[in-house]
Amino acid sequence: MSKTRVYKLAQKLGISSKELIEQMETLGINVNNHMSTLEDDEAKLVFELLGSADEKDNSINREEEENCMPKIMISEKISVQDLSKLINKTSAEVITKLIQIGVMATINQEIDFDVAELIALEFGYEVEKEVSNDDNEDSLLEVEVDDPNDLQPRPPIVTVMGHVDHGKTSLLDAIRQTNVTAKEAGGITQHIGASEVHINGKKIVFLDTPGHEAFTSMRARGAQVTDISIIVVAADDGIMPQTIEAINHSKAANVPIIVAINKIDKPNINVDRVKQELADQGLLVEDWGGDVISVPVSALKGQNIDTLLEMVLLVAEMEELKANPNRKAVGTVIEAQLDKGRGPVATVLVQNGTLKVGDSIVAGIGHGKVRAMINHLGKRIKEATPSTPVEILGLSDVPQSGDQFVVVENDKLARSIADKRKEKLREEQMKATQKVSLDELFKQM
Ligand code: GDP
Ligand code: MG
Repeated sequence: MSKTRVYKLAQKLGISSKELIEQMETLGINVNNHMSTLEDDEAKLVFELLGSADEKDNSINREEEENCMPKIMISEKISVQDLSKLINKTSAEVITKLIQIGVMATINQEIDFDVAELIALEFGYEVEKEVSNDDNEDSLLEVEVDDPNDLQPRPPIVTVMGHVDHGKTSLLDAIRQTNVTAKEAGGITQHIGASEVHINGKKIVFLDTPGHEAFTSMRARGAQVTDISIIVVAADDGIMPQTIEAINHSKAANVPIIVAINKIDKPNINVDRVKQELADQGLLVEDWGGDVISVPVSALKGQNIDTLLEMVLLVAEMEELKANPNRKAVGTVIEAQLDKGRGPVATVLVQNGTLKVGDSIVAGIGHGKVRAMINHLGKRIKEATPSTPVEILGLSDVPQSGDQFVVVENDKLARSIADKRKEKLREEQMKATQKVSLDELFKQM
């Protein structure tokens, strides 16, 4: 009998987990949190009830729309002639209206959106702003949609979060030590902002970025890289403000949570108190009848780290994470900086497709051919498959963390996309400084 997670169902319905939980309550189905599971038939019922309710809403909207004013699309600017055609009026009629509102214009003259909207409204037309494709650099990027048959399982990307001093860094160190095998040259991991570990023949990718940052700065830029979050709670300290923040970030991003109850080697700790505090935050652990996996660990003594990793694999399996390795790569910049000797260096996470040396890529305002790729062990590699973090060399400029990267046809296209982005960035910066100086001017007056 298969089960469905609440947040998965929420994704399918296109609503937040919180909304779904509230709506299910009105249906008499109570669940603990976004990690809770529903039996298949239960999930189906909810999907049908809520899904069809949505459709009904739409049909009502459609009827309403029919009684509404006709709608036209206008971009940033439009000529008088074009506007008159859109609203089925002569140019003379439009010009007369324009004069009435104090705007002098000829047939071929372009008027601003705001003015055009006013005129259209006067003639009984509703107006929607058309996003101009000309200055949208991403219009140059074709979006490749994967055929479900091309998808293959990919390793999970894990972020470790938690309150300061609860043991995030120690846990990541312990995880790496568990996995540094003698055959890995020297066993020294190179810092590239992410690492891979292998357990039971399977791979897990850990991001080193402080978890909160990974969520806030990346999500602010529309990127989501994390598949699973491990929330570390020190058993001697319990749930603290940053723990709650971490829980909220994970919930908002619909990312499953595994709780690592750390520092169990310490005397006089109370694991049950931590579980109680988790329950107060809406996270009911499994041994208390809930759905949240918690693992007591000691990062310092390396205790139970294997179990924690096994749980990560278990959750990953339920997530059915997939990607298509046989396409041009796309992914996200994890971190980037300017290196004195090597130029712009970026650690990227390949999220779909395979990135290859020699590929033309755009990453934020940077573009170029991938000159070299270095993996988490400091080894040069030629190809990086889905869920692989790699450091890349060859970019023209330093991108920002959270920027998307894409492989494009050729470097000419990569350059023109990056150039447009740079221009847009310059304009935004200029606007910002102009605003500041105006503000200062007014302050002085
Ligand atoms: P972070 O701020 O969350 O990255 O926490 P750290 O990993 O820097 O750990 C903070 C402190 O707690 C350090 O002094 C660690 O040695 C200590 N610490 C971390 N894990 C454990 C543990 O499992 N047991 C004990 N006794 N101390 C730990
Ligand atoms: Mg730390």
